[in-house]
Amino acid sequence: MFAAIACATANPSCRVDVLEHARQFLGKVKVSGGGRCNLTHACFDPAELVKGYPRGGRELLGPFTRFQPHDTIAWFAARGVETKTESDGRIFPTTDRSETVVDCLLQSARVAGVHLRESTRIIDLQRDDAGHFVVSHEGGEMPPCDRVLLATGGNKQGHALARALGHTIIPPVASLFTFAITDPRIAGLAGVSVQDAAVELDGVAPQRGPVLVTHWGLSGPAVIKLSAWAARALFTAQYRSELRISWLPDMTAQSVLEKFVEYKHTIGGQYVWRTPFHQIPQRLWQRLVEAADILDGQRWSKLPRGNMLKLAAELCDGRYEISGKGVFKDEFVTAGGVALNEIDWRTMQSKGCPGLYFAGEVLDIDGITGGYNFQSAWTTGWIAGNAMANQVPN
Ligand SMILES: Cc1cc2nc3c(=O)[nH]c(=O)nc-3n(C[C@H](O)[C@H](O)[C@H](O)COP(=O)(O)OP(=O)(O)OC[C@H]3O[C@@H](n4cnc5c(N)ncnc54)[C@H](O)[C@@H]3O)c2cc1C
Repeated sequence: MFAAIACATANPSCRVDVLEHARQFLGKVKVSGGGRCNLTHACFDPAELVKGYPRGGRELLGPFTRFQPHDTIAWFAARGVETKTESDGRIFPTTDRSETVVDCLLQSARVAGVHLRESTRIIDLQRDDAGHFVVSHEGGEMPPCDRVLLATGGNKQGHALARALGHTIIPPVASLFTFAITDPRIAGLAGVSVQDAAVELDGVAPQRGPVLVTHWGLSGPAVIKLSAWAARALFTAQYRSELRISWLPDMTAQSVLEKFVEYKHTIGGQYVWRTPFHQIPQRLWQRLVEAADILDGQRWSKLPRGNMLKLAAELCDGRYEISGKGVFKDEFVTAGGVALNEIDWRTMQSKGCPGLYFAGEVLDIDGITGGYNFQSAWTTGWIAGNAMANQVPN
Protein backbone atom coordinates (compact mmCIF):
# COMPACT_ATOMS: atom_id res chain seq x y z
CA MET A 1 0.00 0.00 0.00
CA PHE A 2 2.81 2.35 0.92
CA ALA A 3 4.63 1.51 -2.32
CA ALA A 4 1.46 1.95 -4.36
CA ILE A 5 0.90 5.41 -2.89
CA ALA A 6 4.53 6.35 -3.57
CA CYS A 7 4.31 5.13 -7.16
CA ALA A 8 0.98 6.76 -8.00
CA THR A 9 2.06 10.03 -6.36
CA ALA A 10 5.43 10.15 -8.12
CA ASN A 11 3.95 9.43 -11.53
CA PRO A 12 0.20 10.07 -11.77
CA SER A 13 0.19 8.68 -15.30
CA CYS A 14 0.89 5.18 -13.94
CA ARG A 15 -2.05 2.93 -13.38
CA VAL A 16 -1.50 1.32 -9.99
CA ASP A 17 -3.54 -1.59 -8.66
CA VAL A 18 -3.21 -3.19 -5.24
CA LEU A 19 -4.43 -6.79 -5.16
CA GLU A 20 -5.17 -8.04 -1.67
CA HIS A 21 -6.15 -11.56 -0.77
CA ALA A 22 -8.02 -10.61 2.41
CA ARG A 23 -11.43 -8.96 2.53
CA GLN A 24 -9.89 -5.96 4.25
CA PHE A 25 -6.68 -4.16 3.52
CA LEU A 26 -3.86 -3.70 6.02
CA GLY A 27 -5.00 -6.40 8.40
CA LYS A 28 -1.63 -6.62 10.08
CA VAL A 29 -1.37 -2.89 10.58
CA LYS A 30 -4.72 -3.09 12.33
CA VAL A 31 -3.63 -5.73 14.86
CA SER A 32 -0.13 -4.33 15.24
CA GLY A 33 1.40 -3.08 18.46
CA GLY A 34 -1.45 -4.47 20.56
CA GLY A 35 -3.92 -2.41 18.47
CA ARG A 36 -1.87 0.79 18.76
CA CYS A 37 0.49 0.31 15.78
CA ASN A 38 4.09 0.90 16.72
CA LEU A 39 4.85 2.38 13.32
CA THR A 40 8.54 3.14 13.70
CA HIS A 41 11.38 3.60 16.19
CA ALA A 42 13.05 6.79 17.39
CA CYS A 43 16.46 6.00 15.95
CA PHE A 44 17.48 8.49 13.30
CA ASP A 45 21.03 7.44 12.48
CA PRO A 46 20.93 4.80 9.72
CA ALA A 47 24.16 3.21 10.97
CA GLU A 48 22.57 2.78 14.41
CA LEU A 49 19.16 1.80 13.05
CA VAL A 50 20.49 -1.16 11.05
CA LYS A 51 21.71 -2.72 14.30
CA GLY A 52 18.05 -3.56 14.99
CA TYR A 53 17.89 -6.06 12.12
CA PRO A 54 19.17 -9.59 12.72
CA ARG A 55 18.69 -10.17 9.00
CA GLY A 56 18.88 -7.40 6.42
CA GLY A 57 20.78 -4.81 8.46
CA ARG A 58 23.71 -4.54 6.07
CA GLU A 59 21.49 -4.21 3.01
CA LEU A 60 19.18 -1.65 4.65
CA LEU A 61 21.95 0.87 5.33
CA GLY A 62 21.68 2.47 1.88
CA PRO A 63 17.85 2.46 1.83
CA PHE A 64 17.74 4.07 5.30
CA THR A 65 19.83 6.99 4.07
CA ARG A 66 16.94 7.65 1.66
CA PHE A 67 13.89 6.93 3.81
CA GLN A 68 14.24 6.53 7.56
CA PRO A 69 12.13 7.02 10.71
CA HIS A 70 12.23 10.85 10.35
CA ASP A 71 10.69 10.45 6.91
CA THR A 72 8.05 8.05 8.22
CA ILE A 73 7.06 10.51 10.93
CA ALA A 74 6.98 13.38 8.41
CA TRP A 75 5.04 11.29 5.86
CA PHE A 76 2.28 10.52 8.32
CA ALA A 77 2.30 14.01 9.84
CA ALA A 78 1.79 15.52 6.37
CA ARG A 79 -1.35 13.37 6.12
CA GLY A 80 -2.69 14.33 9.53
CA VAL A 81 -1.32 11.49 11.69
CA GLU A 82 0.58 12.92 14.64
CA THR A 83 2.91 10.58 16.48
CA LYS A 84 4.41 10.30 19.95
CA THR A 85 7.57 8.63 21.20
CA GLU A 86 7.49 6.45 24.29
CA SER A 87 10.41 6.25 26.72
CA ASP A 88 11.76 3.06 25.10
CA GLY A 89 11.86 4.67 21.63
CA ARG A 90 8.69 3.12 20.22
CA ILE A 91 6.61 5.52 18.13
CA PHE A 92 2.80 5.35 18.01
CA PRO A 93 0.03 7.55 16.63
CA THR A 94 -1.09 9.96 19.36
CA THR A 95 -4.55 8.41 19.12
CA ASP A 96 -3.11 5.08 20.33
CA ARG A 97 -5.29 3.46 17.66
CA SER A 98 -3.95 1.50 14.71
CA GLU A 99 -7.09 2.44 12.75
CA THR A 100 -5.65 5.95 12.48
CA VAL A 101 -2.76 4.53 10.43
CA VAL A 102 -5.00 2.20 8.40
CA ASP A 103 -7.43 5.02 7.57
CA CYS A 104 -4.58 7.34 6.61
CA LEU A 105 -3.07 4.79 4.22
CA LEU A 106 -6.41 3.95 2.59
CA GLN A 107 -7.33 7.61 2.22
CA SER A 108 -3.88 8.45 0.80
CA ALA A 109 -4.19 5.60 -1.70
CA ARG A 110 -7.57 6.87 -2.87
CA VAL A 111 -6.29 10.43 -3.18
CA ALA A 112 -3.33 9.19 -5.23
CA GLY A 113 -5.72 7.32 -7.53
CA VAL A 114 -4.62 3.81 -6.57
CA HIS A 115 -7.09 1.09 -7.56
CA LEU A 116 -7.83 -1.10 -4.56
CA ARG A 117 -8.95 -4.67 -5.14
CA GLU A 118 -9.65 -6.65 -2.00
CA SER A 119 -10.63 -10.38 -1.88
CA THR A 120 -8.30 -10.95 -4.82
CA ARG A 121 -5.80 -13.71 -4.27
CA ILE A 122 -2.92 -13.95 -6.73
CA ILE A 123 -2.43 -17.55 -7.74
CA ASP A 124 0.10 -17.21 -10.52
CA LEU A 125 2.62 -14.69 -11.75
CA GLN A 126 4.49 -15.05 -15.03
CA ARG A 127 6.70 -12.90 -17.20
CA ASP A 128 6.19 -13.23 -20.96
CA ASP A 129 8.86 -12.92 -23.62
CA ALA A 130 8.06 -9.24 -24.16
CA GLY A 131 8.82 -8.58 -20.46
CA HIS A 132 5.19 -8.09 -19.45
CA PHE A 133 3.77 -9.72 -16.37
CA VAL A 134 0.66 -11.82 -16.40
CA VAL A 135 -0.97 -11.75 -12.98
CA SER A 136 -3.60 -14.43 -12.44
CA HIS A 137 -5.96 -14.24 -9.51
CA GLU A 138 -8.85 -16.39 -8.41
CA GLY A 139 -11.30 -14.23 -10.37
CA GLY A 140 -9.31 -14.13 -13.63
CA GLU A 141 -6.33 -12.33 -15.09
CA MET A 142 -5.09 -8.75 -14.92
CA PRO A 143 -4.28 -6.91 -18.15
CA PRO A 144 -0.52 -7.35 -18.76
CA CYS A 145 1.59 -5.12 -16.49
CA ASP A 146 5.00 -3.56 -16.98
CA ARG A 147 5.95 -3.70 -13.31
CA VAL A 148 4.95 -5.89 -10.39
CA LEU A 149 5.76 -5.46 -6.72
CA LEU A 150 5.51 -8.53 -4.53
CA ALA A 151 4.77 -7.41 -0.97
CA THR A 152 3.04 -10.53 0.28
CA GLY A 153 4.58 -10.56 3.76
CA GLY A 154 5.93 -13.70 5.37
CA ASN A 155 3.46 -16.18 3.88
CA LYS A 156 4.40 -19.18 1.80
CA GLN A 157 2.29 -18.34 -1.22
CA GLY A 158 4.21 -15.16 -1.88
CA HIS A 159 7.44 -17.12 -1.55
CA ALA A 160 6.15 -19.64 -4.10
CA LEU A 161 5.38 -16.83 -6.58
CA ALA A 162 8.90 -15.46 -6.14
CA ARG A 163 10.45 -18.90 -6.43
CA ALA A 164 8.58 -19.58 -9.67
CA LEU A 165 10.27 -16.49 -11.12
CA GLY A 166 13.71 -17.81 -10.25
CA HIS A 167 14.32 -16.48 -6.76
CA THR A 168 15.95 -18.27 -3.85
CA ILE A 169 13.84 -18.50 -0.72
CA ILE A 170 15.67 -18.65 2.59
CA PRO A 171 13.46 -21.03 4.64
CA PRO A 172 11.07 -19.09 6.86
CA VAL A 173 11.24 -19.45 10.65
CA ALA A 174 9.51 -17.54 13.42
CA SER A 175 11.15 -14.55 15.06
CA LEU A 176 10.03 -12.48 18.07
CA PHE A 177 8.75 -15.00 20.58
CA THR A 178 8.86 -15.67 24.31
CA PHE A 179 10.67 -18.56 25.98
CA ALA A 180 8.81 -21.45 27.63
CA ILE A 181 10.70 -22.28 30.83
CA THR A 182 9.59 -24.52 33.66
CA ASP A 183 11.79 -23.73 36.62
CA PRO A 184 11.12 -23.48 40.37
CA ARG A 185 12.99 -20.17 40.50
CA ILE A 186 10.31 -18.42 38.46
CA ALA A 187 7.25 -20.68 38.91
CA GLY A 188 4.27 -18.73 40.24
CA LEU A 189 6.01 -15.36 39.79
CA ALA A 190 4.04 -14.29 36.69
CA GLY A 191 4.03 -10.50 36.50
CA VAL A 192 7.34 -10.04 38.32
CA SER A 193 9.81 -8.06 36.22
CA VAL A 194 13.39 -6.86 36.39
CA GLN A 195 13.91 -3.55 34.64
CA ASP A 196 17.43 -4.15 33.41
CA ALA A 197 18.69 -7.70 32.98
CA ALA A 198 20.97 -9.35 30.42
CA VAL A 199 19.98 -12.55 28.64
CA GLU A 200 22.28 -14.69 26.54
CA LEU A 201 22.38 -17.89 24.50
CA ASP A 202 25.42 -19.73 23.22
CA GLY A 203 26.80 -18.00 20.15
CA VAL A 204 24.37 -15.04 20.33
CA ALA A 205 25.27 -11.62 21.72
CA PRO A 206 23.67 -10.83 25.11
CA GLN A 207 20.62 -8.58 25.03
CA ARG A 208 19.79 -6.11 27.77
CA GLY A 209 16.52 -4.64 28.94
CA PRO A 210 13.42 -5.49 30.93
CA VAL A 211 12.73 -9.20 31.57
CA LEU A 212 9.25 -10.27 32.59
CA VAL A 213 8.21 -13.54 34.23
CA THR A 214 5.06 -14.99 32.61
CA HIS A 215 2.85 -17.99 33.38
CA TRP A 216 4.88 -20.04 30.89
CA GLY A 217 8.40 -18.74 31.24
CA LEU A 218 10.09 -15.47 30.36
CA SER A 219 9.21 -12.53 28.13
CA GLY A 220 9.96 -8.79 28.03
CA PRO A 221 11.96 -6.70 25.53
CA ALA A 222 15.35 -8.31 26.29
CA VAL A 223 13.98 -11.83 25.75
CA ILE A 224 12.06 -10.86 22.60
CA LYS A 225 15.17 -9.20 21.14
CA LEU A 226 17.23 -12.28 21.93
CA SER A 227 14.62 -14.49 20.21
CA ALA A 228 15.10 -12.44 17.02
CA TRP A 229 18.88 -12.75 17.04
CA ALA A 230 18.67 -16.45 17.88
CA ALA A 231 15.65 -17.22 15.64
CA ARG A 232 17.43 -19.58 13.32
CA ALA A 233 19.66 -21.25 15.93
CA LEU A 234 16.69 -21.88 18.21
CA PHE A 235 14.65 -23.27 15.33
CA THR A 236 17.47 -25.70 14.56
CA ALA A 237 17.66 -26.67 18.24
CA GLN A 238 13.86 -27.22 18.25
CA TYR A 239 13.54 -24.41 20.76
CA ARG A 240 15.54 -26.22 23.42
CA SER A 241 18.54 -24.40 24.76
CA GLU A 242 20.23 -23.07 27.87
CA LEU A 243 19.48 -19.43 28.67
CA ARG A 244 21.94 -17.50 30.81
CA ILE A 245 20.61 -14.56 32.79
CA SER A 246 22.35 -11.81 34.67
CA TRP A 247 19.79 -10.11 36.87
CA LEU A 248 22.45 -7.46 37.64
CA PRO A 249 24.15 -6.73 34.32
CA ASP A 250 26.22 -3.86 35.73
CA MET A 251 27.83 -6.12 38.34
CA THR A 252 30.23 -9.05 38.08
CA ALA A 253 30.06 -12.13 40.31
CA GLN A 254 33.19 -10.76 41.99
CA SER A 255 31.66 -7.37 42.80
CA VAL A 256 28.50 -9.07 44.09
CA LEU A 257 30.65 -11.27 46.32
CA GLU A 258 32.44 -8.20 47.68
CA LYS A 259 29.03 -6.71 48.51
CA PHE A 260 28.09 -9.88 50.42
CA VAL A 261 31.33 -9.75 52.41
CA GLU A 262 30.59 -6.11 53.22
CA TYR A 263 27.07 -7.12 54.37
CA LYS A 264 28.61 -9.65 56.76
CA HIS A 265 30.07 -6.72 58.66
CA THR A 266 27.56 -3.91 58.08
CA ILE A 267 24.23 -5.72 58.34
CA GLY A 268 25.40 -9.10 59.65
CA GLY A 269 22.40 -9.46 61.95
CA GLN A 270 19.85 -9.24 59.15
CA TYR A 271 18.29 -12.22 57.40
CA VAL A 272 19.53 -12.89 53.86
CA TRP A 273 16.00 -13.77 52.70
CA ARG A 274 14.68 -10.40 53.79
CA THR A 275 17.45 -8.12 52.53
CA PRO A 276 16.40 -6.26 49.37
CA PHE A 277 19.24 -6.48 46.89
CA HIS A 278 19.62 -3.74 44.26
CA GLN A 279 16.83 -3.89 41.69
CA ILE A 280 15.83 -7.53 42.32
CA PRO A 281 12.13 -7.81 43.26
CA GLN A 282 11.69 -9.36 46.70
CA ARG A 283 9.89 -12.51 45.51
CA LEU A 284 12.51 -13.29 42.89
CA TRP A 285 15.30 -12.57 45.38
CA GLN A 286 13.87 -15.12 47.77
CA ARG A 287 13.76 -17.75 45.02
CA LEU A 288 17.36 -17.07 44.04
CA VAL A 289 18.44 -17.22 47.67
CA GLU A 290 16.61 -20.54 48.00
CA ALA A 291 18.29 -21.82 44.82
CA ALA A 292 21.63 -21.03 46.47
CA ASP A 293 20.63 -23.42 49.31
CA ILE A 294 20.29 -20.60 51.81
CA LEU A 295 17.63 -21.36 54.40
CA ASP A 296 15.10 -18.92 55.81
CA GLY A 297 16.61 -17.72 59.08
CA GLN A 298 20.16 -17.50 57.73
CA ARG A 299 21.85 -14.24 58.74
CA TRP A 300 24.49 -12.46 56.66
CA SER A 301 27.09 -12.72 59.45
CA LYS A 302 27.08 -16.52 59.32
CA LEU A 303 26.61 -17.01 55.57
CA PRO A 304 29.16 -19.62 54.39
CA ARG A 305 31.36 -18.65 51.46
CA GLY A 306 30.04 -21.59 49.39
CA ASN A 307 26.49 -20.19 49.56
CA MET A 308 27.78 -16.71 48.74
CA LEU A 309 29.41 -18.05 45.60
CA LYS A 310 26.24 -19.90 44.62
CA LEU A 311 24.10 -16.81 45.15
CA ALA A 312 26.49 -14.62 43.17
CA ALA A 313 26.27 -17.15 40.33
CA GLU A 314 22.45 -17.12 40.51
CA LEU A 315 22.47 -13.33 40.26
CA CYS A 316 25.08 -12.92 37.53
CA ASP A 317 24.95 -16.15 35.58
CA GLY A 318 21.70 -18.01 36.21
CA ARG A 319 21.14 -20.99 33.92
CA TYR A 320 17.60 -21.78 32.74
CA GLU A 321 16.41 -24.50 30.34
CA ILE A 322 14.28 -23.24 27.46
CA SER A 323 11.83 -26.01 26.60
CA GLY A 324 9.85 -24.35 23.81
CA LYS A 325 8.63 -21.27 22.00
CA GLY A 326 5.88 -19.12 23.48
CA VAL A 327 3.81 -16.40 21.81
CA PHE A 328 4.37 -12.67 21.88
CA LYS A 329 1.05 -11.07 21.07
CA ASP A 330 2.21 -7.52 20.42
CA GLU A 331 4.38 -8.24 17.42
CA PHE A 332 5.40 -11.20 15.28
CA VAL A 333 7.55 -11.51 12.21
CA THR A 334 9.03 -14.18 9.95
CA ALA A 335 12.76 -14.52 9.41
CA GLY A 336 13.60 -15.86 5.96
CA GLY A 337 12.19 -15.02 2.54
CA VAL A 338 13.61 -13.84 -0.77
CA ALA A 339 17.43 -13.94 -0.68
CA LEU A 340 18.84 -10.45 -0.25
CA ASN A 341 21.68 -10.80 -2.75
CA GLU A 342 19.12 -11.16 -5.53
CA ILE A 343 17.84 -7.61 -5.05
CA ASP A 344 19.13 -4.26 -6.35
CA TRP A 345 18.82 -2.18 -3.18
CA ARG A 346 18.79 1.12 -5.06
CA THR A 347 15.41 0.24 -6.58
CA MET A 348 14.26 -2.96 -4.82
CA GLN A 349 14.14 -4.55 -8.25
CA SER A 350 14.99 -8.21 -8.74
CA LYS A 351 18.40 -8.61 -10.34
CA GLY A 352 17.29 -11.72 -12.23
CA CYS A 353 13.77 -10.72 -13.22
CA PRO A 354 13.61 -7.13 -14.54
CA GLY A 355 10.33 -5.39 -13.75
CA LEU A 356 9.73 -7.43 -10.58
CA TYR A 357 10.18 -5.61 -7.28
CA PHE A 358 10.06 -6.69 -3.65
CA ALA A 359 9.28 -4.87 -0.39
CA GLY A 360 8.64 -5.73 3.24
CA GLU A 361 8.60 -9.04 4.99
CA VAL A 362 8.58 -11.16 1.81
CA LEU A 363 12.32 -10.43 1.82
CA ASP A 364 14.74 -12.13 4.19
CA ILE A 365 14.60 -9.08 6.48
CA ASP A 366 13.36 -8.91 10.03
CA GLY A 367 13.87 -6.51 12.86
CA ILE A 368 13.79 -6.61 16.63
CA THR A 369 10.61 -5.50 18.33
CA GLY A 370 9.87 -1.78 18.66
CA GLY A 371 8.78 -0.51 15.22
CA TYR A 372 11.75 -1.79 13.22
CA ASN A 373 9.65 -4.17 11.13
CA PHE A 374 7.25 -1.54 9.88
CA GLN A 375 10.16 0.83 9.22
CA SER A 376 11.85 -1.62 6.88
CA ALA A 377 8.50 -2.18 5.14
CA TRP A 378 7.90 1.60 4.72
CA THR A 379 11.46 2.14 3.48
CA THR A 380 11.59 -0.69 0.97
CA GLY A 381 8.03 0.07 -0.17
CA TRP A 382 8.80 3.75 -0.68
CA ILE A 383 11.96 3.00 -2.66
CA ALA A 384 10.23 0.35 -4.78
CA GLY A 385 7.22 2.56 -5.47
CA ASN A 386 9.34 5.50 -6.58
CA ALA A 387 11.60 3.33 -8.70
CA MET A 388 8.60 1.72 -10.40
CA ALA A 389 7.16 5.16 -11.15
CA ASN A 390 10.41 6.41 -12.65
CA GLN A 391 11.13 3.36 -14.71
CA VAL A 392 7.84 3.10 -16.54
CA PRO A 393 8.65 2.87 -20.26
CA ASN A 394 7.44 5.75 -22.42
C1 LIG B 1 0.25 -9.36 15.74
C2 LIG B 1 1.32 -8.56 15.05
C3 LIG B 1 1.65 -7.31 15.55
C4 LIG B 1 2.69 -6.57 14.93
N1 LIG B 1 3.00 -5.34 15.44
C5 LIG B 1 4.01 -4.64 14.88
C6 LIG B 1 4.34 -3.34 15.37
O1 LIG B 1 3.66 -2.80 16.26
N2 LIG B 1 5.40 -2.70 14.82
C7 LIG B 1 6.14 -3.25 13.80
O2 LIG B 1 7.09 -2.62 13.33
N3 LIG B 1 5.82 -4.44 13.28
C8 LIG B 1 4.77 -5.13 13.79
N4 LIG B 1 4.44 -6.36 13.27
C9 LIG B 1 5.18 -6.81 12.10
C10 LIG B 1 4.58 -6.11 10.87
O3 LIG B 1 3.16 -6.22 10.92
C11 LIG B 1 5.09 -6.71 9.58
O4 LIG B 1 6.50 -6.71 9.59
C12 LIG B 1 4.58 -5.89 8.39
O5 LIG B 1 3.16 -5.91 8.37
C13 LIG B 1 5.14 -6.42 7.09
O6 LIG B 1 4.51 -5.73 6.04
P1 LIG B 1 4.34 -6.39 4.62
O7 LIG B 1 3.57 -5.41 3.81
O8 LIG B 1 5.61 -6.86 4.13
O9 LIG B 1 3.46 -7.69 4.88
P2 LIG B 1 1.98 -7.85 5.44
O10 LIG B 1 1.62 -6.72 6.33
O11 LIG B 1 1.91 -9.23 5.96
O12 LIG B 1 1.08 -7.72 4.15
C14 LIG B 1 1.11 -8.66 3.12
C15 LIG B 1 -0.27 -8.71 2.50
O13 LIG B 1 -0.21 -9.52 1.34
C16 LIG B 1 -1.39 -10.25 1.26
N5 LIG B 1 -1.15 -11.43 0.44
C17 LIG B 1 -0.32 -12.45 0.71
N6 LIG B 1 -0.35 -13.35 -0.28
C18 LIG B 1 -1.18 -12.87 -1.21
C19 LIG B 1 -1.65 -13.35 -2.48
N7 LIG B 1 -1.23 -14.51 -2.97
N8 LIG B 1 -2.53 -12.60 -3.16
C20 LIG B 1 -2.96 -11.42 -2.68
N9 LIG B 1 -2.58 -10.94 -1.48
C21 LIG B 1 -1.71 -11.65 -0.77
C22 LIG B 1 -1.73 -10.59 2.70
O14 LIG B 1 -3.11 -10.87 2.82
C23 LIG B 1 -1.31 -9.32 3.41
O15 LIG B 1 -2.37 -8.41 3.59
C24 LIG B 1 3.39 -7.09 13.83
C25 LIG B 1 3.03 -8.34 13.33
C26 LIG B 1 2.01 -9.06 13.93
C27 LIG B 1 1.62 -10.40 13.37
